Amino acid sequence: MRFLDIHLEYCDDNGRRLEKIAELGKPFGISVVPVLLLPEHESFKNGIHPSDYYYPDRIVDILRELAKEDFVVFGQQGFAHYCTECLKTEFKDGGKREFKRDLWHENSCFYKKEKSVEEQIEFMKKGKEVIEDKLKVSPLIYCPPNHMFDNNTKTAAEELGYEFFAVKGILSLAPYRERKLKILPERKVWQNGDVFYTHYDQMNEEFCKYLRIIESSTLILDDFFSDKTSKAWLNEKLISVYKTLRDVKNRAIYG
Ligand SMILES: [Zn+2]
Ligand SMILES: [Zn+2]
Repeated sequence: MRFLDIHLEYCDDNGRRLEKIAELGKPFGISVVPVLLLPEHESFKNGIHPSDYYYPDRIVDILRELAKEDFVVFGQQGFAHYCTECLKTEFKDGGKREFKRDLWHENSCFYKKEKSVEEQIEFMKKGKEVIEDKLKVSPLIYCPPNHMFDNNTKTAAEELGYEFFAVKGILSLAPYRERKLKILPERKVWQNGDVFYTHYDQMNEEFCKYLRIIESSTLILDDFFSDKTSKAWLNEKLISVYKTLRDVKNRAIYG
């Protein structure tokens, strides 16, 4: 299996690369951030995002076209893709950003009590409805922002009926099943693996390499999924370790 999940966040090229990718007619995933479909959202007014960070009209038009194609699998990254609690600490003291911790998680946060299944369902459902309303497609992949999640996230994803759940593939892992979900361990394109991810603006460099991956991509078939192994459990532990170390490192640099 070979599959690229594009995390669509900053759209640096007004959709030119996305059009080229669409022309290939090959399978790929596109995981959108619901709030970026809402230019009127407060995050573009209060400095969380640059005021024009939302998806440009041209991108939205392309996404609507892609939504009609069978070879494109839509994914969803939370609702807002940032953590309201961490934001308060980072923006204190007159809005001076301190960068001591990562802000861009939503389902799970190291600095506060875990969110219940219901709390997670609430914003995930809101995000799903925004995508359905704006793009006329239901997201099949749930991709927790920043690949940060807990068990409640998986339960919430099952209850909301997503078919796939994206995790960071720290280890090289084949896709596997867990309860009702099909887990896609996503790796960077320069690593070995079956499923890859990239941020849209990162494709600017070495775009040909990404095109080659998509050219040789396959549809996600049921046969590709095995049972969850002990290596998969270890991978999940390593995701938390990796994310914790990142914050520790930032605190050492900026703290
Ligand atoms: Zn947080
Ligand atoms: Zn993201």
